Amino acid sequence: MNPTSAHDQEGNQMSAAPTRDLLVVGAGIAGMYAVHKATESGLDVLGLEAGSDVGGTWYFNRYPGARCDVESVDYSYSFDRELEKEWQWSERFATQAEIWSYLDHVADRYRIRERFLFDTRVADAVFDEATSTWSVTTEAGETHRAKFLMMATGSLSEPIKPRLAGVDSFAGETYFTAMWPHEPVDLTGKRVGLIGTGSSGIQAAPIVARQARSLTIFQRTANYTVPAPNRVFTEEDQRKIQEEYPHRREVSAYAAAASPHVSHTKKATEVDAEERRAAFEARWAEGGVLFSKTFPDQSSDIVANDYAREFAEQKIREIVQDPQVADDLIPKDYPIGTKRIVTDSGYYEMFNRDNVELVNLRRDPITEVTDWGIKTEQGSYELDVIIFATGFDALTGALTRIDPKGARGARLSDVWADGPVTYLGMGIPGFPNLFSISGPGAPGVLANMMTHSEQQVDWCLALLQTCHEQGIDTAEPRQDAAEKWTEHLEEVASKTLFVRAASWYMGANIEGKKQTFMPYIGGFGTFRKMCDDVRDAGFEGYVLTTNGGGQ
Ligand code: FAD
Ligand code: NAP
Repeated sequence: MNPTSAHDQEGNQMSAAPTRDLLVVGAGIAGMYAVHKATESGLDVLGLEAGSDVGGTWYFNRYPGARCDVESVDYSYSFDRELEKEWQWSERFATQAEIWSYLDHVADRYRIRERFLFDTRVADAVFDEATSTWSVTTEAGETHRAKFLMMATGSLSEPIKPRLAGVDSFAGETYFTAMWPHEPVDLTGKRVGLIGTGSSGIQAAPIVARQARSLTIFQRTANYTVPAPNRVFTEEDQRKIQEEYPHRREVSAYAAAASPHVSHTKKATEVDAEERRAAFEARWAEGGVLFSKTFPDQSSDIVANDYAREFAEQKIREIVQDPQVADDLIPKDYPIGTKRIVTDSGYYEMFNRDNVELVNLRRDPITEVTDWGIKTEQGSYELDVIIFATGFDALTGALTRIDPKGARGARLSDVWADGPVTYLGMGIPGFPNLFSISGPGAPGVLANMMTHSEQQVDWCLALLQTCHEQGIDTAEPRQDAAEKWTEHLEEVASKTLFVRAASWYMGANIEGKKQTFMPYIGGFGTFRKMCDDVRDAGFEGYVLTTNGGGQ
């Protein structure tokens, strides 16, 4: 550690604090891996985490029914074959509890917790140009300094509270899926209202319905969901998993969604009706989000998409007995797959229960939350409990809440006012020595985030090591390189159907947020190859500077 005196934006000298090599904000899967890998590389690293323990998403989202929608064997770290060998997933799609246990095991195994400060929310981050260091201030007023700052703050870590009249006046119990209590919540015999039918609400609902006296689901936008044929692994499965792991990892490393899935070899528009139906049936039986990738043209050609949509609609009508409810559950205003398809456990069947009611807010909007429940234009719902599954300020929210101040007066909230501009998602012009992990500009949420996190962290640490070894003080992406990347990202997105949905990928769920497609949709493998090439070309697109001004 080198003691340095840093300066604030007005040029005042700030009190001395040790300058580390790296600060990592966030102890989710990305931050945990970053801190471990940096330590292994001999760097002086400190992690800062707002929560009280590791796990990020899997620490906070403890709602009933929470599970991964990427198969457990893929949704796990690949950096250590020994870790892979010693951990056995019990089910095909693991529960939140099992994923958290896995992350707890990883934290213990690699002594990750001792390099984190918990209950430590970063409130501000300022780059000092004179010393090329980042100063980070916590909500408690502590300052930490480092040459490099890695924001592993999560793309789905800023939950939102809906702006509904009287939302704070409800006298019963209130829960957010993304901030679920650690203590057991007993819903037995209670009248429960659930607002929100994205992945979180749809996963939670069937479990809640089994416990509660009644469940009223307030749905604004219907979502496509494909049941997960989950199952407990047998000993034979475990043997096969171990045997196939190396190949599975190899295939995933450069695959489009960072998982071993492959689409049908032909386009949906090239095959006859029988072959198409068989492919959809097979994919539906496999279950979950990857139904959106049954055919390679499904997300780019509306004709292909319509085939998939019609198939899913027929499934809904077959399962849900009340034709009006079935109709309300069928999305009307976006192509299938352009909002993340949910991976559920008995969601459509749940509507055949007597204690479950669907309120279609498009026909009958909420007018007010009262102390006794929810009022809509046409009805009154007396409730004991309200569950909010209302989503996140995705991709940018955690970063803009900190609102880092970079070089030459740059402030992230200003720089991104018209939508995020990044270089390969990981670098931001105006913000030297800052890495953004799985944020806008990267495939992130469109890929298996475990593999994605490892790729992002490895790439950023390679850049940091290059600077370390070559005596470089600042690494900053060029403005033109970032603009070119962002234009490319937009161009790729514009050729897909994704831009037709008012999704959180587009920032459409946040009032006033610039609507633009934020993740890179050209495929994880393609992205990874581009990142490899940039790295191998000496981090092309970056300006690498020593304090003497040399290149
Ligand atoms: P996170 O896990 O979000 O961790 C970020 C951490 O940063 C958090 O702990 C947060 O407290 C901390 N933080 C943020 N701001 C600050 C601050 N200012 N100061 C200090 N700390 C801060 N992806 C998949 O690929 N497959 C899945 O099956 C899947 N399921 C999901 C289920 C749910 C319920 C949700 C919400 C998301 C799911 N995702 C899934 C996406 C998921 O977010 C990622 O897979 C992954 O867990 C993200 O890891 P991360 O480390 O990037 O971020
Ligand atoms: P989400 O997909 O954004 O869903 C939020 C829901 O709340 C939407 O149905 C939204 O309706 C509704 N809503 C928001 N404000 C409302 C209001 N004022 N009145 C009525 N309804 C309102 O959020 P999420 O379900 O938490 O999922 C976010 C992402 O996290 C997922 O897409 C997925 O990537 C990840 N995730 C994955 C899993 C998994 O299966 N492993 C589970 C949970 C989450 P509108 O659509 O009309 O805005």
